[in-house]
Amino acid sequence: MATAFPTATILGYPRIGRRRELKRALEAYWAGRSSGEELATAFTSLRHATFDRLAELGYSREDAAIPDNSSLYDQVLDITRLLGATPERFAGKNGLDLYFALARGDESVPPLEMTKWFDTNYHYLVPEIGPETPISFADDHLVQRFVEANAAGTVTRPVVVGPVTYLALAKAAESAPDGWQPVERIGDVVAAYREFFEALGAAGAPWVQVDEPALVSDNLGTRRTELAELAGRVWADLASSGARPSILLTLPYGDGNTALPAVAGSGVDAISLDLVRGAAPEAGAVDLSGVHLVAGLIDGRNIWRADLAAGRDALESLKALGAAGLSVGTTNSLQHVPHDTADETWADPTLDAHLHEWLAFADQKVSETVTLANGLEQGWDSVAQQIADATTALAARAIAPGVRREDVRSRTGALTEAERTRVPFTEREPIQAEKLALPILPTTTIGSFPQTPEIRNARASLLRGDIDQAGYTEQIRGEVAKVIKLQEDLDIDVLVHGEPERNDMVQYFAEQFDGFAATRNGWVQSYGSRCTRPSIQWGDVARPAPMTVEWTSYAQSLTQRPVKGMLTGPVTILAWSFPRIDISLGESADQIALALRDEVADLEAAGTAIIQVDEPALRELLPLDAGRHADYLAWSVGSFRAATAGVRPDTQIHTHLCYSEFGQIIDAIAGLDADVTSIEAARSKMEVLPELAANGFFRGVGPGVWDIHSPRVPATDELVELIRAAAASVPANRLWVNPDCGLKTRAYPETIATLTNLVEAAQAVRGELAS
Ligand code: GLN
Ligand code: ZN
Repeated sequence: MATAFPTATILGYPRIGRRRELKRALEAYWAGRSSGEELATAFTSLRHATFDRLAELGYSREDAAIPDNSSLYDQVLDITRLLGATPERFAGKNGLDLYFALARGDESVPPLEMTKWFDTNYHYLVPEIGPETPISFADDHLVQRFVEANAAGTVTRPVVVGPVTYLALAKAAESAPDGWQPVERIGDVVAAYREFFEALGAAGAPWVQVDEPALVSDNLGTRRTELAELAGRVWADLASSGARPSILLTLPYGDGNTALPAVAGSGVDAISLDLVRGAAPEAGAVDLSGVHLVAGLIDGRNIWRADLAAGRDALESLKALGAAGLSVGTTNSLQHVPHDTADETWADPTLDAHLHEWLAFADQKVSETVTLANGLEQGWDSVAQQIADATTALAARAIAPGVRREDVRSRTGALTEAERTRVPFTEREPIQAEKLALPILPTTTIGSFPQTPEIRNARASLLRGDIDQAGYTEQIRGEVAKVIKLQEDLDIDVLVHGEPERNDMVQYFAEQFDGFAATRNGWVQSYGSRCTRPSIQWGDVARPAPMTVEWTSYAQSLTQRPVKGMLTGPVTILAWSFPRIDISLGESADQIALALRDEVADLEAAGTAIIQVDEPALRELLPLDAGRHADYLAWSVGSFRAATAGVRPDTQIHTHLCYSEFGQIIDAIAGLDADVTSIEAARSKMEVLPELAANGFFRGVGPGVWDIHSPRVPATDELVELIRAAAASVPANRLWVNPDCGLKTRAYPETIATLTNLVEAAQAVRGELAS
């Protein structure tokens, strides 16, 4: 007898723990301070804390409303383990050693590659699949988790990444023939999922949740329409199995309408649509009579309290679709939001009262699903008060001080194309060359130097009040002086101050802008045990005072060589924060851009000849729907230009992008019109440069020659080779020599060793080019 789908659910809960318990447990285990058993115990108790919390918030323990999306490290890695799809180089490893070697590497093997999960700031581990990779139902951890929870009184709904998404996110193993694609293994993967589902069914699981976000994305190798067709076949096959649990198939992060006809007819029991990022289908457009519809109305990507009246209206109109049943859900797993607004207090007392009214973290979102489900089941009168409260909060927010500032709006409204435009690069280039008088192949770094324990201690002491602002400033100045001296000793041409004063390249600015609030406990998993605390953009953005000028000027006062001013760009600030949703991202980006434009002007006035504006998230925010790419690229590039185009022709603007897949945004990179662009290139051995050159990119380029993700010290010869390879695609007078990214996660020994080699290599190739 099938269990009906619950009327309210979430597609997943934060996994790291409200006090980052998982992070602590993992790091203790990796450091050898605890055993595998202790790790397992900590993990189980964290899962149960989640189940208990969800029960407390109103979910039943009996009807699979409570998802189990827990993972020791990553949900994609969990499928790699489930399938036993272990690349050759890990042979001989087992259990937790294997699991963590895949995730983090060890002395003998490099880990799986890590990359961003759809358009989020979460990173998953990329499966490596070849024609010979073993694939079967090889591991029953996820079944055992259900069994254990069930025995302890909670009938969970296990959550897994779906087979189509798993293969769409995989890369071909190095041994695979040219042009071979992981999706060719779909038959083996489906056979393994079939066995897995049967094992879950045998264990008594009433429902399993399978996430298929690949079906909403145009940004993967395979097109969305092709994936939809494949998914239709895959899911018909899997649904035909007799002894399986009921299947909830989810289409999070985007518009599910391309895939919906194919999967709705496949025989899966329920489908969840992201109705914030996509629209509901037209009534009659798709036959939903055989499936239960989970309406993803509560936004799992941001932290704003929902408009419950709008939710009620949406649910009422969804009834016209004629689905077999209707429930309320979140758009996606809540793994992307913090736990609970009750854990926060904001320093500014007015803001404190406001933000508690305006925000919904995971726990509040669970309650929102419960409210809407109660309305759906018992009539809207039964939840009239909650709906009215949400409406009142929204209305109060719209008119609260700082949310809309005429001084900010009139500036963005008056921004002209001329203000986003510099004189042509070809005119700027000779002026800058004369002013800076740099050697060819100038050497530089991306900005940060190692964040030592001393720097972190200084920051912690300041927060605790053990030292005062003056004492802190003095310590940080000492660090800047050390970094400048080191770079001079290394004979680097363009210096940086090292960013020791920055906890984080976004939060540092968010804390100084009007309109942003930093959280204290709002941790969100970035990957594995790593978390970030995105700031909240709640109002119109302005810069009350200069943010970086003192540090840069101080650094410049210590040396004759140019020191780069260092800022984070508008797109990256938005991508790594929780942006507001009552105005467009483009409007927000322009507000931030104008605040940065003032900072850029102040840096220039203080004598800074080179200003770098980092945009490492430019690609990450690219919409999954190709139809929205052009609009995105227009506002994102426009905001960068608004931030940077106010400078004189002799001021050199740099930007930094830390990835090397440029295909879809190559025109945008040219559109930024930066004088110099540093990019990631070491791992791909400069392969991106011919692509850039072929696309007519002709400004300064700094392809990273050192892969800073690993402590390995590349030898001078190796660096010479990379610089020579770069010089084959980029004219030598426009080529820069630098690492792939900032050095804040590196330690000093490898930093000094590598930068020594890097300078030596640049000088060697300079010599070759001169003769
Ligand atoms: N300037 C920053 C740094 O060096 C850039 C970091 C990044 O690209 N993520 O740390
Ligand atoms: Zn970077």
